[in-house]
Amino acid sequence: MHDNSTLVRARIARFVTERVTPAVYRASAPLMLSAWEAKDEPVPFSEAVGQQFEPFAVGEAWGAPWGTTWFHLTGAVPASWAELADAGFDGRVELVIDLGFLSGQPGFQAEGLVFDPDGRIVKAVEPFNNHVPVEVGPGGAIDVYVEAASNPDVGSDWSFRPTSVGDKATAGADAVYRLGRVDVALLDTVVWELERDIWTLTGLMDELSADLPRTAEILRALEAVVDRMDPQDISGTAGAGRKILAPVLATPAYASAHRIVAVGHAHIDSAWLWPVRETIRKCARTFSNVLDLMDGDPDFVFACSSAQQYAWMKEYYPDLFDRIRVRVLEGRFVPVGGMWVESDTNMPGGEALVRQLVAGKGFFMREFGIEPLEVWLPDSFGYTAAFPQLVAAAGSRYFLTQKLSWNETNLMPHSTFSWEGIDGTRIFTHFPPVDTYNSVLSGQELARAQRQYHEKGASDVSLVPFGYGDGGGGPTREMLAAAVRTKSLEGSPTVTLGTPLSFFQDAERNYPHPPVWSGELYLEFHRGTYTSQARTKAGNRRSEHLLREAELWASTATVRTGTPYPYERLAEVWNTVLLQQFHDILPGSAIAWVHQVAEANYTRVAQELQEIIATAIAALTEARGSSAGEMTGSIGFNASPFPVSGVPALSAGQVTTPGAVTVEHSAGGFILENDGLRVTIDRQGLVTSLVDLATGRDAIPDGQAANLLQLFRDTPNQWDAWDVDEHYRHTGTDLREAEFVELVDKHEHWVSIRVDRRFGASTVSQVLTLEGDSSALDIVTTVDWHEQQKLLKLAFPLDVHADRAASEIQFGHVYRPTHANTSWDAARFETCAHRWVYVGEPGFGVAVANDSTYGHDITRTTRPDGGTTTLVRQSLLRAPLFPDPGADQGKHVLRTAIRMGDDILDAVREGYRVNLPLRVIKDATPVAPLVSSDNPAIVVEAVKLAEDRSGDLVVRLYEARGARATGAVNFGCDVARVIETDLLERALYDPRALVTVTGLQTNLRLRPFQIVTLRVTRC
Ligand SMILES: [Zn+2]
Repeated sequence: MHDNSTLVRARIARFVTERVTPAVYRASAPLMLSAWEAKDEPVPFSEAVGQQFEPFAVGEAWGAPWGTTWFHLTGAVPASWAELADAGFDGRVELVIDLGFLSGQPGFQAEGLVFDPDGRIVKAVEPFNNHVPVEVGPGGAIDVYVEAASNPDVGSDWSFRPTSVGDKATAGADAVYRLGRVDVALLDTVVWELERDIWTLTGLMDELSADLPRTAEILRALEAVVDRMDPQDISGTAGAGRKILAPVLATPAYASAHRIVAVGHAHIDSAWLWPVRETIRKCARTFSNVLDLMDGDPDFVFACSSAQQYAWMKEYYPDLFDRIRVRVLEGRFVPVGGMWVESDTNMPGGEALVRQLVAGKGFFMREFGIEPLEVWLPDSFGYTAAFPQLVAAAGSRYFLTQKLSWNETNLMPHSTFSWEGIDGTRIFTHFPPVDTYNSVLSGQELARAQRQYHEKGASDVSLVPFGYGDGGGGPTREMLAAAVRTKSLEGSPTVTLGTPLSFFQDAERNYPHPPVWSGELYLEFHRGTYTSQARTKAGNRRSEHLLREAELWASTATVRTGTPYPYERLAEVWNTVLLQQFHDILPGSAIAWVHQVAEANYTRVAQELQEIIATAIAALTEARGSSAGEMTGSIGFNASPFPVSGVPALSAGQVTTPGAVTVEHSAGGFILENDGLRVTIDRQGLVTSLVDLATGRDAIPDGQAANLLQLFRDTPNQWDAWDVDEHYRHTGTDLREAEFVELVDKHEHWVSIRVDRRFGASTVSQVLTLEGDSSALDIVTTVDWHEQQKLLKLAFPLDVHADRAASEIQFGHVYRPTHANTSWDAARFETCAHRWVYVGEPGFGVAVANDSTYGHDITRTTRPDGGTTTLVRQSLLRAPLFPDPGADQGKHVLRTAIRMGDDILDAVREGYRVNLPLRVIKDATPVAPLVSSDNPAIVVEAVKLAEDRSGDLVVRLYEARGARATGAVNFGCDVARVIETDLLERALYDPRALVTVTGLQTNLRLRPFQIVTLRVTRC
């Protein structure tokens, strides 16, 4: 036979495009239209329906960016369609609405939500899902409203050019859409099914090797369909076409075919290229589609993460939420993930990441009685090595991510593996080989899942999340049709609809000893997200620490004085902070609008928490003051788990007078000295020497200078707010020139030097302070930043021979190499750390701590004298132009501390000190700690009252050094019982921390980095 397959494929494609697809609707008729545009922000149906609607026509322009236009659609189903039904025509009446959708992508643009005249949500319309069911038959009246959102396409062609549309103030007022089609239409069910048959078979054929008999069989069958069907009568001959394909669709899959569990899903970013308020509506639209799809297909299940999104439905769309609840209880609308949002996991602090799970699971358990057992984070930008322990300690068993397929350099070697955290906890993890969380179940995607599945031969099952995300509307009937056809189809992987849990249980049974990946799941991409939108990051860090203080002092006040614990207020604040840890807010990758709202929320959060703290401290002070009569002047409230200025951890007490500091002028600069440290600051304001007086060791190598600001060109190849590319290192300027280097504050107990510099369009002022009793040099950097596409780093060259550096993560630290031996090391050129990084040799090390930055890089070089310089740099600021062209402009205040220490616990202590300054209150009274640990390595991370509002005290501690630790924990109240619990404060029947209680004292024996939660019932 001559090979004409290329020509045949082209013939089939044209036949489908020109004949079959246009025949999917047998008939259609226009509807009457009127419209009303909301003045500014969206209004509910009840308000919109009473407005004056004006006549409107298809083809007219509508919708300013971020506006809302309500369309009122009226008319009737043509009576003549009854004849078709009488003649045996298999069809379905529906509305077809094209809001003027931009072609080519399912979401990121206009969307509509359809209501009946009573305000009940019917379904949504999106670019690839624009039909709405009609309940009435021929002759019946149609009357619906469409709430149409004219969301601009911020991403546009993904060229990452600056755009003004991400801020309502600059987005303009011109209409951005033109109404395309508003019809009542008659779907030809047989033609639609035929189109689905051809789509699946064509997709499969395109993936199969051309030399397979199966490929030729599909090709010839499709050719026969084209031959057999009458292009003038597609409707009348579609049935015959389907008959030809039926046997080809009926041949079963190979016995060894890869098995796919397809999970309906919609990845809806909680804010990104649209504000949070639009996400709420996106959720309502997508979920209404899902409910509609469930009405028609009893096998369809939909997995939805993020308790926050359910909570929004409960608050803003209670009717929809009730309908969701029914499907949840049926097991078809499946809560997954168990987190409040799909958060970033690099930057949230330890307790915050715990609360993501506590708040998320708590919501699902309260509302539905369901506890998700898997953590579902397909899209976050890398995964902390603390996570396995947190997942397990929250009572979950499984973890799923997709994002590492975006790695620029290295390919993850596993699809299914056991992920091991810093403490040794392992968690069964799946990394779907399909490489998308928005699958449409195409032949190409299914084949890719099979091809890229790394566990072949050992296991045979993977998960495919399918459905359009981000306003695309979720799964569609076309995707379900594809799933039916690929259930068992020769040449294709087999597809079964299922839940994430059913997949994980199957996969675990199937693969009991998967390979192990130890440590963080570093994303070799999006490394700028540790730095972009510095104010959002500072707001997060500040909020986390204020929450710690608020919970600590409020608990102390409740236990000591009976002051009511502010459960509601704290829960509300936590929910805001947790929402803003979403993986496009905290990482700084959202539009200007999102970050403006986030910053305003952090301001509100700070006010609220300061009030809670003030109320608690006042209660403690009044109660003690009146009863004990021991007003003692200025008292320091120390929320740190370490003593500060003589005040014991987690208590309030007299602040000790610090020792003396001296300052000398030297060679145009200054020498600052206290009992432990001698700091030399040169005439340019750079730190040229930092000597530990006890050992005489200088942390700064000869001839080098720390506190050096460096400015780099920061023009990534793509994804501007997300990415710092390695090539930033090719161009950099040391900012050595100083306009002002002066002693600005000289006191017996502290000395401050101010250094001012000017560069580009920006200014920076640093205040370097040495206090009398401090082991650290404090640096406060105030930048008035007006650069674009620049990266500002603060460099500390250190005379330390370290082949690895420790970076604080949640409840511990990770070590990363300071060299680039392997491609994995080389790709990790910018990394995330929480409050500190530490580089050390045995018996000596240096910590660099911060109060608001996360991005760091740590490298090393060999000097001519043979010594090693380990260069620690903080990434202070960026100024990407997409998606927020004004990102990071303006004033920033960043605090840094550098200290020497022979133990990594010195770094831990320093991190807390910099982030939890002592709160000095006049005329207060001392407050004994509610909790104390007698081993500094056993660190108290949270003190709070129990989530169940029983009044029990909950204390979370962890081992911070990375070693075994034994110690005693004492409670400053009468204790009836102490038990170890999981993160959700449920008793552990198999306690892990070897907790023993004797009287008031609880003894702990902890593994390295072990987290323990104690629940204390008071007498
Ligand atoms: Zn996302």
